[in-house]
Amino acid sequence: MALRDILIHPDPRLKKPAETVGDFGVELQRLADDMLETMYDAPGIGLAAPQIGVMERVLVMDCVKEEGEAPRPMVLINPEVIWASEGLSTYEEGCLSIPDQYADVERPAEVRVRWQGIDGKSAEEDFAGLWATCVQHEIDHLNGKLFIDYLKPLKRQMITRKMQKLKRERARA
Ligand SMILES: [Zn+2]
Repeated sequence: MALRDILIHPDPRLKKPAETVGDFGVELQRLADDMLETMYDAPGIGLAAPQIGVMERVLVMDCVKEEGEAPRPMVLINPEVIWASEGLSTYEEGCLSIPDQYADVERPAEVRVRWQGIDGKSAEEDFAGLWATCVQHEIDHLNGKLFIDYLKPLKRQMITRKMQKLKRERARA
């Protein structure tokens, strides 16, 4: 396993839709392992493949937050939301590609998601609470969408300028 570099917004790869996965081989297993390791190391609760520059529809997540509760690493290949509740909920979201920036985003409170496992088998599950927010945030990444795209233009531009500054500073370091 290896840690991968996480792309920081703005980056054209974070704005591009990712490709459907068709090859469920050893490369995919390696990608999923690396993504989980990179996510836990960050630390974060979700990571989508485009965030490490891999333009494939793969996401990982683990929203278990309670101390002492067993971790639940999940790998979702080609995920899609097949049902969303009318009820909405608001969470203060952040993103590993937009470090240290947080904002309230309103999304469906519950969603049913269908995906393929690492073995290519189809799976389906209802998500609520933080899991629902996280899986929608990560599927957005696979469609080239970021949580700041839900914000008012002024706020989005402010965050983007901060990230441009951060990237300049990192490039100099
Ligand atoms: Zn994100």
